[in-house]
Amino acid sequence: MTASMTAKEPSFRESVDLMFNRAVRLMDLSPGLEQKIRVCNSTYTVRFGVRLRGKIETFTGYRSVHSEHMEPVKGGIRYALSVHQDEVEALAALMTYKCALVETPFGGSKGGLCIDPRAWDEHELEQITRRFAYELIKRDLIHPAQNVPAPDMGTGEREMAWIADQYARMNTTDINAKACVTGKPPHAGGIQGRVEATGRGVQYALREFFRHPEDVAKARLSGTLDGKRAIVQGLGNVGYHAAKFLSEEDGVKITAIIERDGALSDDNGLNVEAVRRHMNATGGLKGYAGATYTENGAAMLEAPCDLLIPAAMEGVINLSNADRIKAPLIIEAANGPVTFGADEILRKKGCVIIPDMYANAGGVTVSYFEWVKNLSHIRFGRMQRRAEESRSRLLVEELERLSADQNLGWTLTADFKERFLTGSDELALVRSGLDDTMRTAYQAMRAVWHGRNDVEDLRVAAYIVSIGRVAATYRSKGL
Ligand code: NAD
Repeated sequence: MTASMTAKEPSFRESVDLMFNRAVRLMDLSPGLEQKIRVCNSTYTVRFGVRLRGKIETFTGYRSVHSEHMEPVKGGIRYALSVHQDEVEALAALMTYKCALVETPFGGSKGGLCIDPRAWDEHELEQITRRFAYELIKRDLIHPAQNVPAPDMGTGEREMAWIADQYARMNTTDINAKACVTGKPPHAGGIQGRVEATGRGVQYALREFFRHPEDVAKARLSGTLDGKRAIVQGLGNVGYHAAKFLSEEDGVKITAIIERDGALSDDNGLNVEAVRRHMNATGGLKGYAGATYTENGAAMLEAPCDLLIPAAMEGVINLSNADRIKAPLIIEAANGPVTFGADEILRKKGCVIIPDMYANAGGVTVSYFEWVKNLSHIRFGRMQRRAEESRSRLLVEELERLSADQNLGWTLTADFKERFLTGSDELALVRSGLDDTMRTAYQAMRAVWHGRNDVEDLRVAAYIVSIGRVAATYRSKGL
């Protein structure tokens, strides 16, 4: 729970359960099955010691498994001081629903380590990560067939590579060892496009939303993404990539960026790349030239805009600020940024919320592709790419021959030829698979949103789709 949340506010896990309840009320599930889907199956807590700076430091970590209706279970590992059991369980539940919504064949899990990653140097973090991984691996809580972590807040490619290596050291004959974790760097068994996948997914989700004028109108907006004013909270992995792609490729103006130390604003649109460079160099937003800086970052969530993109952490839009939020459209790039109470206030105001379980599913989608790549031991596109190019070349040559023979005067532009003659490499295939997933999942949610009179919002629609799929899997197992 964030400091700004009031005492009346339910915890993050309670919030997820309350949202679940809103949806199951509208479904025809037996109370037993409903309860089975809602509860978190298990949470393992580990306290381990690492000798650092001349003394033994004890760390507390968690791995929750929310649902094993499909295995392996999947979910990121978070490094933050705020990590606690309730939070990890809420995030694990969201993973179950998210995986079902975007049809990745996984159950839901999540892990966390109570640590400030900035307080330790790289070598120390490696020792801590390897030890945490060791504790989880020896209990099969990291395993290619049972439980596959990924990056989350405070972790990235580097930590995933250490985890993969630790697993390989402890399972020297497992030919599928690399599939024990996703989000690895490409040289360590990763996949092209994973780092930016969640931000890219946010972009594809918004593009799909704006393909439906009826939905755009519900948010009291019109037209396309071009020229829309967006406020982004959190310029980390998810927020940075979402802001970068939306501003560079879709004409969205990022009018404010909120970080831990305050906010930057510019009505003409901020240069996301330059702000990120400044942040990398100084550790914060303060001191960035060419934009207005304010110390009270959270207040900037309430500034006028077309689109609000909370991409930092949970609970930032809550009972204490929801009625002052002006954005007509919110896309939850972070997990759980809007509390249950705030969700109700915003809905009453007519705000459209594209829910987290859909909006940030790009990460798990590309993780799924990485897992499949690791199990198949071949990079995507390796067999087809040149064959695809040869067939395209055949067509281009035939067209050019026909034009010359018949004096038709056709000329294919150099740009067309280059694009048509380029076969799909791994990155192109990953983007295509991600785009397809985001469109298909949106359409499934939308069909419920528009198809039923008792469904008010996209969040309930998303829960109905995903709970329905989880229930069907349980039923097929005879439960
Ligand atoms: P990250 O650690 O890379 O970035 C988080 C950013 O938010 C950091 O720059 C941090 O300084 C900033 N931040 C933290 N608290 C803040 C606050 N109170 N106000 C403003 N800024 C704040 O983490 P991430 O991987 O980008 O994850 C962000 C959110 O997205 C989390 O909720 C996470 O669960 C969710 N998510 C991440 C992924 C992924 O692939 N990384 C996938 C799905 C969901």
